[in-house]
Amino acid sequence: MAEPNELPLSILSAIERYRQQCSDPMVAFFYDLPALAAHANAMKAALPPGVELYYAIKANSEPAIIDTLAPIVDGLELSSGGEIERACRSATPRPWVLSGPGKLDADMRSAIERGVEAFHVESLGEIARLQSIAAALGRTQPVLLRINPWLPESFSSRLRMAGTATPFGIDEAQLPQAVSAVDNAPNLKLCGFHVHAMSHQTSEQRHQQLLAFYLERWPSWRALARYPEQLTQLNVGGGIGVNYRQPSHQFDWASLCYAFGQQLDNLSEPPRVRFEIGRYLSAFCGYYVMEVLDTKVSHGEGFLVCRGGTHQFRLPVAQGHDHPVIHLPRDPEQSSNGEQRAWTVVGQLCTPKDVLSRHQELRGVRVGDLLVLPLAGAYGYNISHADFLCHPRPSQHFVTDTAEALHSRPGLRRVLAEGYSG
Ligand SMILES: *Cc1c(COP(=O)(O)O)cnc(C)c1O
Repeated sequence: MAEPNELPLSILSAIERYRQQCSDPMVAFFYDLPALAAHANAMKAALPPGVELYYAIKANSEPAIIDTLAPIVDGLELSSGGEIERACRSATPRPWVLSGPGKLDADMRSAIERGVEAFHVESLGEIARLQSIAAALGRTQPVLLRINPWLPESFSSRLRMAGTATPFGIDEAQLPQAVSAVDNAPNLKLCGFHVHAMSHQTSEQRHQQLLAFYLERWPSWRALARYPEQLTQLNVGGGIGVNYRQPSHQFDWASLCYAFGQQLDNLSEPPRVRFEIGRYLSAFCGYYVMEVLDTKVSHGEGFLVCRGGTHQFRLPVAQGHDHPVIHLPRDPEQSSNGEQRAWTVVGQLCTPKDVLSRHQELRGVRVGDLLVLPLAGAYGYNISHADFLCHPRPSQHFVTDTAEALHSRPGLRRVLAEGYSG
């Protein structure tokens, strides 16, 4: 079980301030923007020389998250007209690419008009459509072909986008045909290849092997083109996992980058490599905070019924894990003398699937206490079915306080010592 003292003071303080404004039991998301910036800066600093980091905004496309990351990353990866809107409204305009299956003609046209850097093309049909759109606009459009490669069985992860039958990318068997279609399209310019094969990769070693495999395949993919020397870019996708089961054991990005840098150093003609990371960039900055509405024991199992639920934070059910929970008692002293037991944390929905976490050993939980679910910054609120049962949507708070700013707030010490008001 995680402890309250693992929460940043800025988040505790924002929770307390919001709670004082709530007349009903609270539920809300809080995002630690300085921590997000620090994490992104550290990721960027660890990259091997020349390797780029893009943010795949589908992980969390809230304007404040994009505005925090945009100045740090090298660019953005987008997959819809709506995402183009969000990215173009960012305070810091950055280069962006458009990928994803099922692109609309209207989105491709708007992307070209709004200055897309490159398209990640997903099918033979899309090559033909993009060619006619680029021709109609009188442009020459850079493209990367997204490959669904043959992958050794050992690379499999929980959520596979490639190496198996999926709607993503171009089957490697059809790659020669796709490359020649782009070579023959007068308004398209082939710049390289894109592979996003895995999600939830939690092993540095396996990811390193996957990247090594791409680098090994790169010369033969490139050799398919009429002018191979014009192909310089290899986008290796995202897919770095977050460990929701053991929050203190996370993917070691720096060690992956170090090993990958050595692999690149051994190549005589390395491609320009780009990562496009979603989850591992934004997950750590987010917290979903729910107030306990009711406690009950039914057929031997203890339930904490909380404000909110999986319609607002679908991630744990979507991934099939028990989300870590931090208990913030309203009365810390009473709570520390209370009984410890295993709880199942559920929301307000009238469905047995509305479970956020099982087997949470918590001491002295009472109605009115708060539960904080960390690691909620990626694929949290934005993948959820928030209108189910017509509950109001939770508020989202983008916290910009730094630790220094908080030392001048004595109220916070009181909260830590005496618990949460309400
Ligand atoms: C979702 C997605 C990403 C980001 O994946 P993460 O697992 O969040 O890092 C990158 N590239 C493509 C094409 C995607 O669809």
